[in-house]
Order: sequence, then C-alpha cells, then structure tokens
Amino acid sequence: EEGIVIKSTGSWYQVKLSDGRTVPCRILGKFRLEGLNLTNPVAVGDQVEVIMEDGEEETGLIRNIKPRTNYVVRQSPRRKRDMHLLASNIDQAMVIVTIREPMLKPGFIDRFLLMTEPYEIPTLIIFNKADLYSEDDLELYEAIEYMYEDIGYQVFLVSAVSGQGIEELRGALKDKITLVAGQSGVGKSTLVTAIQPQLELRTQDLSGHSGKGQHTTTFAEMFDLDFGGAIIDTPGIKTLSFNHLEPQDVAHNFREFFALSEDCRFGGSCLHRDEPGCAVKEAVEEQQVSELRYMNYLMLLEEIEEQNYWE
Ligand code: GDP
Ligand code: ZN
Repeated sequence: EEGIVIKSTGSWYQVKLSDGRTVPCRILGKFRLEGLNLTNPVAVGDQVEVIMEDGEEETGLIRNIKPRTNYVVRQSPRRKRDMHLLASNIDQAMVIVTIREPMLKPGFIDRFLLMTEPYEIPTLIIFNKADLYSEDDLELYEAIEYMYEDIGYQVFLVSAVSGQGIEELRGALKDKITLVAGQSGVGKSTLVTAIQPQLELRTQDLSGHSGKGQHTTTFAEMFDLDFGGAIIDTPGIKTLSFNHLEPQDVAHNFREFFALSEDCRFGGSCLHRDEPGCAVKEAVEEQQVSELRYMNYLMLLEEIEEQNYWE
C-alpha cells in the first residue's frame, strides 16, 4: 500500500494510506541520506510504500521512500552532530512572528529564511496580533514588509483574534503543503484554529499502539486543511540551528546579496564583510540593500563561524 507519513514519534510513524486510513508503522530496512548523520530516516511528508502486518491491531512496515522533492533538517537536541529530518516534500513554509507580545526578536526571520532558502522553499512571513499594534508598531511593520517584499517574500498582517487577514492567508495555504513555525507565544495555535476552527494543534500527545516507550517529543505533524492542502506543525522548533552550514552558505542564501555578488571583486567567495570592492557593502551604503538585513547577516555569519570554530 502507498501512503504519506503524517507524524513521527520515535521509532513509530503514522502513515495515512491512500484510502484515508491511518496506520502506525515501523521501518523495515535502512534508509540513509548522503552526507548527513540522521537521527530519523523517515520524515513527515514522506511518500512511502507500506507492507501491512497481521495482528490484532493494524500496523505496517515502511519498505520504501519515494524520492523527496525537498526536506528540512534541524540539529538534534541530543547530539550536536546529528541531524533530525523535520519534514519533506514541502510546497512552502510560513513563519509566524509578532511585533508585540512577545516583541519581535531581531534576526529571527532571517534565521528562519536561512533554513528554507537553501532548499528553495518559498516562505511566507506572517505578522500576527495585528489588533495589538500601535501606530508606531504599524510603521515598523510596514518597513519590514517592504524590506521582505522587495526581495520577493510574501508578507501578511493578520490577527487570530479579530480575524483580520485570515481569509487572505487561507488563500495562500489552499492546496499546498505548508510547514508552520514560530517562536512560542506568537499565537501559532490560535492562528491555526482561526484558519480552520476544528483544527487544534496537539503538541505532546501520543495515542494508542504507538505510545509505548516512546520519546515524549513529537517533532512534526501534518494536518489536512478542509479547504484543500495541509499544514505541518513543528512544535520542536524553538531555536533553529544550522551547524551544517558554512559561512559561504550564509552569503549564498541571502538572496539579494547573492544576486549582487557577481559584482564583488571576489565574486561568489566574497563574504561581504571586509573584502575590498564588495558590491553588497556598496549597495548597503547606497540604501539599495536593507541595512537591517545586512546587520542580521553579519550576526548570523559570526554565529556560524563561532559554532564551527568550537567543533
Ligand atoms: P503559541 O505558543 O504560538 O501556540 O501561542 P498561542 O496560540 O497559545 O497564543 C499565545 C497567546 O497569544 C494567547 O494568550 C493567545 O490568546 C494570544 N493571541 C494569539 N493570537 C492573538 C492575536 O491575534 N491577537 C491577540 N491580541 N492575542 C493573540
Ligand atoms: Zn561582497
């Protein structure tokens, strides 16, 4: 039988079969991803072939994974060198932030984009809690909106409480598989319920057969949207880490910097920091490139250099 992995909890995977049944499955055999030390070989979103097992409860064995169109990983919370496959076959990602309660963390959005950009996953930036924004907050929002729209990202201003912008957001989610992430407290659960009233994110429950002796952390789970499409919730993402990235990768994944780098004297190897003849620095000075993005870039670059140094 064929199906899609909708939840992963330790060594058990919930697979939704093509007839709509959901079956707990284990893995048969070994699956690897070249070049990565993975803690889990199968991800939410994987299209799989399943062999059904005989027994009192219906269970299955995952025998084959179809080639992934993309995937995202994060660092394992247990061992720094290990990577955890978060999700695969994603159409787009949405990162939820807010200017108020909690205050927007500088660099959070750019940090998130650094996770999706290498995999060419289109990313929507959602500002929630619009109902709380003051005039000044709205001005700040507009500046940030302009900054990201200018480089090709979609930005939404919504309120899970007042309903502002929700219909438009539904339109953007329809018929797509969307990875959802946000710092805790930004209103992710409330927003998802506003998008689809019956849908409640379950963060920590494990049910039935697959509950025995499992880790309590659920890393990701897929929920169908009844107007078409699905969302993948990622309760595990609080801080993103990216120790598999090199400084050069950061430069290449700030898309507007990458576009300019062919005019840098050192071309694609320029880190846009102290190098002479740097087109990016020049563009920042001429206000062609956002200074805020540039500062966030320098911050992320430094963070990655430090991380790699200590390894
Ligand atoms: P999560 O941790 O991101 O899932 O956040 P929750 O959905 O639990 O929301 C955190 C808090 O923010 C709760 O008190 C919500 O009622 C509140 N909240 C969520 N969305 C909005 C919104 O659009 N406007 C306002 N004013 N409060 C919101
Ligand atoms: Zn440069």
